[in-house]
Amino acid sequence: MSILKVLVVGAGLGGLTLAQSLRGHGIDVALFERDPDPWDRPQGYRLHLDADARNAAREVLSDDLWAVFEATSYRTETFTTILGTDLSVIKRIPTADELDDRVWRSRVTGHANVDRATLRQILLHGLDDVVHFGKTLDRYDDTGDGVTAYFTDGTTAHGDVLVGADGIRSAVRRQRAPHADTVDAGITAIYGRIPLDVATSLVPKEVITDVFTISSDDRKVFLGLGAVLFPTRPTEAATAHAPGLAMREQDDYVVAIVGGRHQYFPTLGAQVHSPRELQHVAADALAAWPSVAADVVRAGDPDSFFPVAMYTSVPCTLDAPSRVTLLGDAIHAMTPTLGRGANVAMRDGALLGRALAAVWEGRTELPTALAAYEHDMLAYGFAVVTAAARTGQQRMAQNPLPV
Ligand SMILES: Cc1cc2nc3c(=O)[nH]c(=O)nc-3n(C[C@H](O)[C@H](O)[C@H](O)COP(=O)(O)OP(=O)(O)OC[C@H]3O[C@@H](n4cnc5c(N)ncnc54)[C@H](O)[C@@H]3O)c2cc1C
Repeated sequence: MSILKVLVVGAGLGGLTLAQSLRGHGIDVALFERDPDPWDRPQGYRLHLDADARNAAREVLSDDLWAVFEATSYRTETFTTILGTDLSVIKRIPTADELDDRVWRSRVTGHANVDRATLRQILLHGLDDVVHFGKTLDRYDDTGDGVTAYFTDGTTAHGDVLVGADGIRSAVRRQRAPHADTVDAGITAIYGRIPLDVATSLVPKEVITDVFTISSDDRKVFLGLGAVLFPTRPTEAATAHAPGLAMREQDDYVVAIVGGRHQYFPTLGAQVHSPRELQHVAADALAAWPSVAADVVRAGDPDSFFPVAMYTSVPCTLDAPSRVTLLGDAIHAMTPTLGRGANVAMRDGALLGRALAAVWEGRTELPTALAAYEHDMLAYGFAVVTAAARTGQQRMAQNPLPV
């Protein structure tokens, strides 16, 4: 075995997937996260997971954690459904399977809607001794025979490889790929959650059964709705399969997303709103629709609403591999129109874990392994960025990607 120490910056879904993979292979890993703890800020609620994320989870999680993952994943019917502004069903569109036979050994199929916080708790389990919260990367120094990470608190860490899993505003990308660009997609959205029992009295059953539902008007202002139902309560799932795993209890819910071009949400860029004010802004954006649409938003938990300004990466290449690489939103951030960003980030984490395991086991050299990883990751990652932008243009008037 070679000696290999991997530094990962960012404990999001991609960085944690990589850390679980490296841990599983017995590779020395240290993960540095800017947030002081896993609960510091709202990061969204429902996540749609397809074959990429599900197979990545199957590959990197222990059998116990995989059992918790499955027990808390809500298996949806494989449709994305278009609703009218009165929330009647117009069309159910089959959702692509995304299963890549050349990549996934476990071949887990189907789609699931999961709760992001629940998934993050599962991915964090067993990593207590390697995840360091409250560590913000400032810069790194690649000395050829190793890499040193410098944090804003004045501390440093030294390793053989540094992975930027630090999201769309990646500090690692700033140095590793200064030419890589992210641009405003032109879209503002407000997210909130509605208790399941309240939502079911207002929405068609496809909102509960399908991957996602979306309605929009002629301005392309949209309302998206998607359900998360826990087949097993998170605490019960942990007790049954992984007793050491501390889970926060959650209720079933429907996530609501109201968005459109910035111009339809003029106050959002200009002033700070409380969650309750954001709920009103979201409902007001649907005021010209049949009343049921705004009623759904008004039925939401008033404390759950938060705004998101959507950005996208611009497809690019990477210079020759060094000891520093990137994964997930740090390189190929996309608008959430296909619900695939987390899926691709977790795919990256699993594949980079495989590549570094091959180096550790002496089957290949580091530059060769990173070059192969970056080649594949850029190809599939930016293909999804482009597809998400195309769908975003059609459904919500997203800015086209710069050419
Ligand atoms: C509202 C919303 C809904 C979405 N829905 C879906 C969906 O249904 N399905 C799907 O597949 N995708 C979805 N996405 C996209 C998905 O959330 C992202 O693609 C995914 O989280 C990317 O994972 P990541 O690990 O690359 O980055 P992130 O999850 O952004 O994690 C990056 C981490 O790095 C940390 N960090 C940043 N800078 C530093 C630094 N300098 N030093 C240390 N740490 C740092 C951050 O605090 C963060 O924890 C959605 C996105 C949004 C905003």
